[in-house]
Amino acid sequence: MEELYSPKVISELLKKYQLAPLKKLGQNFLRDENIVNKIAQAAVQPGENALEIGPGLGVLTQALARRAKKVVAVEIDKGMVQVLSQTLDGLENTQVLWQDFLKADLQEIAREHFGSEPFAVVGNLPYYITSKCLLAVLEAQAPVLRFTAMVQKEVAERLMAGPGDANYGAITASVAYYGRVRQMFQVSRSCFLPAPDVDSAVIGIEPRAQFDVPREDYTRIVRGLFAQRRKTLQNNMKNSLQMKNEQIQLALEEAQIPANSRAENLSPEDFAKLAKIICKNK
Ligand code: SAM
Repeated sequence: MEELYSPKVISELLKKYQLAPLKKLGQNFLRDENIVNKIAQAAVQPGENALEIGPGLGVLTQALARRAKKVVAVEIDKGMVQVLSQTLDGLENTQVLWQDFLKADLQEIAREHFGSEPFAVVGNLPYYITSKCLLAVLEAQAPVLRFTAMVQKEVAERLMAGPGDANYGAITASVAYYGRVRQMFQVSRSCFLPAPDVDSAVIGIEPRAQFDVPREDYTRIVRGLFAQRRKTLQNNMKNSLQMKNEQIQLALEEAQIPANSRAENLSPEDFAKLAKIICKNK
């Protein structure tokens, strides 16, 4: 098995396949064995299925393959897929799909590759599509056991923020619909080749019992109420949700939320409560 932690091996592989790390695809390869093993351990329990987003040269894929029953890795870059046929050679439980993850149908993948069994999702996510990847997995309504992701440290801080924090925003509340986010550990930029301009963190999202309101309603209300962050709920309800004054007053009274609150002060439970009331009265 290739020693993919070594900068020498990484540059030899890239040279052999005439590749250079593509910034536009967020290609920063992990080169720290300890971090790779920690991610694999957090992501997959022995015997579970795993879906990896963006395997790159395959360093994390190899570690996942040692723990998982089966690994399916989705990679957009054809050059990387060629490298993977070398670095994953002999790993019978591992399959690479050459595909844009954002266009992948997770239910279909689960059916075809995991026989509809539940699976863990894991990825050292490309920075340019972090939020899209998070929402694509969480919204897929596929049997996801947990989602372990390497994201920029600042994104982790936003996802972990609570009501009232400056970092609390629409993405925090949207992800909270599906599960609780835990920060597992931070990862220095020096653990990657090439080193990115920012530090990272590994987060884990555990699905939770869903709120008693459809996702579309919840997300629409969250986005509407955060549309103008500095404005009050009343303002956003009027301008972005196009509600009438009377409807606004009734909804806030029923939800027992003060009219001059701002979205940043509401908990995910408050959003769910408001979404249910507003959408019921539509
Ligand atoms: N997992 C490897 C590691 O940890 O060293 C590589 C991680 S690198 C940060 C992100 C990987 O995601 C790259 O291999 C990149 O080509 C791939 N990628 C970028 N956009 C993608 C997309 N839309 N769908 C699938 N893979 C993508």
